[in-house]
Amino acid sequence: MKAVRIHEHGSLDVLKIDKISVPKLEANKVLIKMKATSVNHLDLWVREGMPGLPIPFPRILGCDGSGIIEEVGELVQGFSKGERVLIQSGISCGTCEFCLTGKDHYCKSYQISGEHCDGFDSEFVSVLPQNLIRIPDSMTFEEAAAIPLVFQTSYEMLVRKVKIKPNETVLVLGAGSGIGSASIQIAKAFGAKVIATGGSEDKLELAKNLGADFVVNHSEGFAKQVREITGKKGVDVVVEHVGQATWKQSLSCLKNSGRLVTCGATTGFEVGLDLRFVFIKNYQIFGSTMGSKGDFFEIMRFFEQGKFKAVIHKTLPFTEVKEAHRILENRESLGKVVLMFNE
Ligand SMILES: [Zn+2]
Repeated sequence: MKAVRIHEHGSLDVLKIDKISVPKLEANKVLIKMKATSVNHLDLWVREGMPGLPIPFPRILGCDGSGIIEEVGELVQGFSKGERVLIQSGISCGTCEFCLTGKDHYCKSYQISGEHCDGFDSEFVSVLPQNLIRIPDSMTFEEAAAIPLVFQTSYEMLVRKVKIKPNETVLVLGAGSGIGSASIQIAKAFGAKVIATGGSEDKLELAKNLGADFVVNHSEGFAKQVREITGKKGVDVVVEHVGQATWKQSLSCLKNSGRLVTCGATTGFEVGLDLRFVFIKNYQIFGSTMGSKGDFFEIMRFFEQGKFKAVIHKTLPFTEVKEAHRILENRESLGKVVLMFNE
C-alpha cells in the first residue's frame, strides 16, 4: 500500500509517497480501508519539526480520516466489515481518572495519531475501535474526514472551556481556517453573536454564509473595528489560534471579565502579556487542546440535524499532498483541504 511519510523535517519536499506493507491487524483493533483524510496545521508542524517534540522517522502523517471497515480484530465487538466510519486521532490509557471521567484528552499518556504516532495518510490503517464513529449515509467520506480535529477542538474550547451562553458575543479569528469555520458554527448553534475576522473578501463571505453576524477584514488589524461593532464594550469571548501576530489585539477586544481561549499559535508561540489588564479587568485565559471522545457523539448529532457542516476548500488525490500542505501554508484555504484515497 502507499502512505504519505516524512523521513526528516523540512519543507514540502520531505513529503514522500512510500510503498509499505499493509498494517497487520491486531486482535483488539480494526483495519480501515481509507477513503479520505484532511490536512491540519498540525501536519505542517510535524513536517517542519517542533522544539521539544522528537519525531521518530519515518512517520506517516495525517490526524483526520474516514474510510470503510475492511477487517475486525477477533476481540473487537460492535463493529463489522463494510461500515462507514470516521476516525478520531486521540489515544489515551483508558484507565486513569481523566479517561474514566470523559476527559481522555487530559490523560498523561495522551497521543495524537499523526503527531506522536503514525497517522492516517495511508491506504490502510489499523486503529482501536474506540477511535471510530459511524457516519450517516448522507455524509460523504470527504465531509467526514474534514470534521474530527477542528470540530473536537472548537467544541471543547467554546462549550467545555468558556461555556458559551446565548446572546454572548464571540470573536472568532481566521474564518477561513478549519478552527475558524467550525467555531463560527458552534457559537451560532449555542445562540451567540459572532464577529469573524478574515484576510480576504471570500473568507469574509464564507464567514457570513456560516452565520457570522459581523465580519472584519483583519489585514490592517481588527481591534478597532471590533470595539466599534460592540459599542466600545468589547466581546465576551475570543477564540484564539493565531498567537503572536494577534494576541495583543485579541486581549484588547475583551470586555471586563471576558474569556479568551487559545488552542494554537500558527504565527508564533511567544506573546507579550501585560498582567495589569489580566487582573484589573478580571480576564480569564483558557488553554485548550483537542477534546474528549465522548463529545464527538454530541457533535455528530449537530451534523445529523444539519446544524453543523463540513467546510471543504478543495479535494485532491493523496499523491498531491505537497499541494495540500502548500495551500495551508500560504493561508489560501477556505475551510479544509481533503486528500482522497482508493479511488
Ligand atoms: Zn488516561
